[in-house]
Amino acid sequence: MSDWSDFFDEIIIGRGYDYFERGNVGPIRKTKNGYRATVQGTYPYKVSVEMDSDGNFIDASCTCPYAEGGDYCKHEAALLFAIDDDIDGEEYDIDNGSLEEIVSLMTREDLEEFILSLAEENKLIREELLAFESDL
Ligand SMILES: [Zn+2]
Repeated sequence: MSDWSDFFDEIIIGRGYDYFERGNVGPIRKTKNGYRATVQGTYPYKVSVEMDSDGNFIDASCTCPYAEGGDYCKHEAALLFAIDDDIDGEEYDIDNGSLEEIVSLMTREDLEEFILSLAEENKLIREELLAFESDL
């Protein structure tokens, strides 16, 4: 965990972790100064965090009423857990809009399953695959 937890109330950190564990954090997008994502709470909230180039926490914002009161909220904590998880090389997947990166994060099993389901749905892909086999 990076240093962001110093800025958050302990109870908020616990609730944020629950949100993260339950998969309430939507796809994470990189921004110029950090990351943003939609976090599902009572309502979906737009959350963004700002970090320096070393990944140190600078600031966070969220559209929920609690954060508007000037405190760091559980939605921000949930996003920070998700970001930490990805930086540690775990499965949470940061969407840079780069297809290559997404594919590189998929396991061989994922890829096989994906290609097979595509081929089942799509005759062209099925034929391409069969033609590929006959070239081997
Ligand atoms: Zn919030």
